[in-house]
Amino acid sequence: VWNNCLAFIQDNIQPQAFKTWFEPIKPVKLSENSLSIQVPSKFFYEWLEEHYVKLLKVSLTKELGENAKLIYIIKMENTYGNKEPFTERIPSSNRSQQVAPQELEVAIKSKNPELKNPFVIPGIRNIKIESQLNPNYSFDNFLEGDSNRLARSAGMAVANKPGGTSFNPLLVFGGVGLGKTHLAHAIGVDIKDKYPERTVLYISAEKFTQQYIESVKKNTRNDFIHFYQLIDVLIIDDVQFLSGKSGTQDVFFHIFNHLHQNGKQVILTSDKAPVDMQDIEQRLLSRFKWGLSAELQTPDYETRVSILKNKLFRDGVEIPDDIVDHVARNIKTNIRELEGAIISLIAQSSFNKKEVTLELAQQVVEKFVKNTKREVSIDYIQKVVSDYFEMDVATLQSKTRKRHIVQARQLAMFFAKKFTKASLASIGSQIGKRDHATVLHACKTVDNLAETDKQFKKYIDDLSKKFS
Ligand code: ADP
Ligand code: MG
Repeated sequence: VWNNCLAFIQDNIQPQAFKTWFEPIKPVKLSENSLSIQVPSKFFYEWLEEHYVKLLKVSLTKELGENAKLIYIIKMENTYGNKEPFTERIPSSNRSQQVAPQELEVAIKSKNPELKNPFVIPGIRNIKIESQLNPNYSFDNFLEGDSNRLARSAGMAVANKPGGTSFNPLLVFGGVGLGKTHLAHAIGVDIKDKYPERTVLYISAEKFTQQYIESVKKNTRNDFIHFYQLIDVLIIDDVQFLSGKSGTQDVFFHIFNHLHQNGKQVILTSDKAPVDMQDIEQRLLSRFKWGLSAELQTPDYETRVSILKNKLFRDGVEIPDDIVDHVARNIKTNIRELEGAIISLIAQSSFNKKEVTLELAQQVVEKFVKNTKREVSIDYIQKVVSDYFEMDVATLQSKTRKRHIVQARQLAMFFAKKFTKASLASIGSQIGKRDHATVLHACKTVDNLAETDKQFKKYIDDLSKKFS
């Protein structure tokens, strides 16, 4: 049957096109009036549907009659080392209007009204994809300055044509409090505005990791991957969080490839440029470099003043220029702190019914500059350690004797001893209700392993950086 179809098609199109688009197709199965064919990729399938659907229909109808059906089977590229390549069956959209779970992708392509907002994924669970965007973070209130011009305008270009620029992925990097999250949201908000039908998702790398861990636990890893492959614009904030998390990196690599191949936009933020990222797999780093990496630098004085003035203006508060100037001159490296100082200044003045004086401003600024170091808590330590090992806190605290979990637990105890003032007994009771002897033993074990086990030493060094 297929050969007859091919003969017909060959007669009707250019030889080159035939070679490119029809020779690679493998007929797989014929049952009654439906023929299954295997195509090499989703892109391939989409191309066929877009350009040759009529031809296919005519040729197939000639062979199988009016009720002929064509089923595409897409052979997925096996990108992340799974043993068995998995295939996905997609019935031809022009023949079937019913939406079954596996037909999802096609339904979206054919703009099935049932699948428009609210966006529901059938077959997986009923999840609405809410974009998780914060409408308060817009381009309008992301003030432009030399420090952010490149990143801001690249962001705007991406928002105008998501997936349609060479900035894919767009990676925005820079230090704490310089506007990465704000800009990432602004791009998403603008896209939602211009292209309301596209699915946009903002998610922190941390939350992404948690979802992934959860999916492994619940045996729904494939659903997890599938879910992310449906998104048109994926924004992942703080990808440095994926450092050392090979499971999550693996799954992200797979999702990234899929989205990229299908012309979907990926936007990433990170605290470092790709070249400086540590413990991120090479293949992912090289993907990060495909598009554009744009840095958010520390804002210069003029930008700091305009950010402050804009903030005051939006809040309807007036403050004398010399005070704004004082704040802008003294808080230089972090826009969040800059805003924090001015908010606290306003709050204090209204609280004490005092006028905002330069003296008050000096006090507030001084406190801000001093107060940047925060105390670590045992909860925080447990969270960081379990994140680092891609497990959840409950697992870390559990009674299991599995080696890697025991080690994670011992490390948490060790850091709690080192970085908090808590007693051994109190540490023990907070980390899964253990006694002080267990904590003491843990600290000794960690000390010993630090000297004898290189890999373990690296864990300690990596984690120490997160607490000091
Ligand atoms: P990061 O994610 O890089 O740590 P954020 O995006 O959270 O930083 O920004 C910190 C604060 O500074 C936010 O309140 C944000 O609105 C503000 N901010 C950052 N850059 C700008 C800018 N160019 N104009 C106005 N506000 C900004
Ligand atoms: Mg941020």
